[in-house]
Amino acid sequence: MIEAVLASRNAKKIEELRRILERTLPGIRLLSLFDIGYDDEIEETGGTFEENAIIKASVPASLGYIGIADDSGLAVDRLGGAPGVTSARYAGEGCTPADCRVKLLEVMKNVPEGDRGAGFVSVMALCLPEGSAITVPPEFAISEELAAVSGRKRELTLTVRGECRGRITDREIGSGGFGYDSVFMSDDLGVTFGEATASAKDGVSHRGRSLEAFSRVLGEVFEGVK
Ligand code: IMP
Repeated sequence: MIEAVLASRNAKKIEELRRILERTLPGIRLLSLFDIGYDDEIEETGGTFEENAIIKASVPASLGYIGIADDSGLAVDRLGGAPGVTSARYAGEGCTPADCRVKLLEVMKNVPEGDRGAGFVSVMALCLPEGSAITVPPEFAISEELAAVSGRKRELTLTVRGECRGRITDREIGSGGFGYDSVFMSDDLGVTFGEATASAKDGVSHRGRSLEAFSRVLGEVFEGVK
């Protein structure tokens, strides 16, 4: 049995990732930061989703555990990829998700239909501790550039990215989901994520896609380890 620590404090996220990863990888047991008694804040200071996911996953790794983390957000084409890594605090420090949606709709107010494209992005990271017997095969390892900015060894680090495309609506549609769901019209579903059922969203979402790919890659990295 392999133990890995999920570097998140969000109980819903821990539950979701545990459900998906433990189902697809029966040989893995996911612990949380609570389980290892770590309760400091982790500052997300990276400029990309990959950097932030690595910053989080490297915390358990620095304590000798296999670290797993995710980072996600909304990237609007017309805004050069904003709000991006600052999606959760787009309307300012301490703002609510509703404040962020209001701000986005305001910023996009007079933008024509054809120019409202956007994507949700989800990145999963795996950080192995120094001296790990398991290593990341070169085909899955992070790039030289990402290794340099994150200060991580390539053979101990991997990231996987999932994306989904859609358009920013001109008003909120639907009341389900969270964050920007009700202002994101999914190209795959033809409805907003705020209108979609959880399972319909999971089937096409950035997180569904990154988790699927991540499970597959972890299956290969951990293959043969008991
Ligand atoms: P984090 O990865 O949990 O830090 O999420 C960053 C922010 O991106 C969230 O607070 C939301 O604002 C936004 N976000 C990420 N994924 C989704 C999603 O599936 N639906 C709506 N908003 C999302």
